[in-house]
Amino acid sequence: MQKRFIPALVLFVTLLLLLAGLGAKMTAVPALSFACEKEIFLTFDDGPSTSVTEEILDILKEENIKATFFIVGDRVKGREKTLRRIAEEGHTLGVHSQTHLYSEIYSSAQSLAKDADACAETIRRVTGVTPRVYRFPGGGEHPASAKLLRQRGYTIVGWNAVCGDEEIRGADADTLFSETVKTSKGKQPVVLLLHDSATHRETAKALPRIIGHFRAEGYTFSAF
Ligand SMILES: [Zn+2]
Repeated sequence: MQKRFIPALVLFVTLLLLLAGLGAKMTAVPALSFACEKEIFLTFDDGPSTSVTEEILDILKEENIKATFFIVGDRVKGREKTLRRIAEEGHTLGVHSQTHLYSEIYSSAQSLAKDADACAETIRRVTGVTPRVYRFPGGGEHPASAKLLRQRGYTIVGWNAVCGDEEIRGADADTLFSETVKTSKGKQPVVLLLHDSATHRETAKALPRIIGHFRAEGYTFSAF
């Protein structure tokens, strides 16, 4: 190689190295922040039940994941131990309803607030926990009720993805898994609606696969 080419070669290699470094930085930064942003909240409505809630708690314990349970107060009697287990294992207890009877709770904003108070009192009496999150039975917007709930200090939690355990009649675990993947696509964070009342054995069956999917996608699991 002729001597006069050496400075040009050094310059060329330096430039290549600089570009390579820059390229690495450009790909590393978004990948890192994207990974941090991926978050999912597993939320279970309509429990507690005996076997389904207990099975779900076993899976969450095994996976070391905290979730949020929106409780129906009238279903607590005889299942106090399960309700206490939810709290003891570090999950969040939320108010869903005392009765879950739409005709009663949605007759007026005051009725809904009274129903929420009764459910909160049940949770407090059994576990000593004062619930701070609320989910409307059936979802939807209820501005007058929402105002009363916020005055009581509640954060109202909706959802943006479903597993389909209430929406698809007779759905098996495979269907619940596919519906979860489909409805959660592009959502950030994902707030996934599941149910842990007695009829939802397939939900418990689908849960390990649902968790595996979000883990593989780099999601962090959070509770409210
Ligand atoms: Zn419900």
